[in-house]
Amino acid sequence: MTTIGLIGGMSWESTAVYYRLLNEGCRARHGGLRSAEVLLHSVDFAPIARMQEAGDWEAAGDVLADSARRLERAGASCIVLATNTMHKVADRVMAATRIPFIHIGDVTARAVRQAGIRRPLLLATRFTMEQGFYRERLAAHGVEALIPDAAGRADVHRIIYEELCRGIVSDASRNRYGKIIAAAQADGADGVILGCTEIGLLIGQGDTPLPVFDTTALHVVAALDMVDALTSRAA
Ligand code: GLU
Repeated sequence: MTTIGLIGGMSWESTAVYYRLLNEGCRARHGGLRSAEVLLHSVDFAPIARMQEAGDWEAAGDVLADSARRLERAGASCIVLATNTMHKVADRVMAATRIPFIHIGDVTARAVRQAGIRRPLLLATRFTMEQGFYRERLAAHGVEALIPDAAGRADVHRIIYEELCRGIVSDASRNRYGKIIAAAQADGADGVILGCTEIGLLIGQGDTPLPVFDTTALHVVAALDMVDALTSRAA
């Protein structure tokens, strides 16, 4: 039995999307009543968000490493950390278990490269946009991510935490994201990475002519690929 170990709750609004997409993807691949074997550990996001604000990434990393260990002990075959931002502590989470960890940045970069995109706009939390950990991971795959200007970054970040993570989806925020994307396109962006797992709740391919890369959807496909690979190896 191949079981996905999903670390969620950051926020649960996007974890719910992961759960749905994992099951829809499993049914599309295998048909009938098939659904995904998933162990979910959903954390309380409030203390994690406070640690992010305080820059206490070690403490947040400890919480998520503990989560990964619990999932491994419970029988998970791989770990999916359902947030881009918390991949800042991916090494700590990876070191906590012996099962494969599916890195959202690697998955995203491969999809962007495969589509022939070289300079995508990265929309994400300010941690993901401004700190090196994510853009450097993309750069290692030859993807040079652009980010919005300071005012744009502030709005993108605020809309994630004050709206999308709280279940609020508004036309005003969709328009703001649209303007930021249009400005980046004028500056030479050739794609858009939805580099936060909630952004797909607000915008999608219908909102821009640029190719859109939704990290949530890409991460789910990679998890299902991993399950299929582990299952056929075991057979
Ligand atoms: N889910 C978001 C992400 O993909 C933001 C929330 C968080 O900080 O984890 O980055």
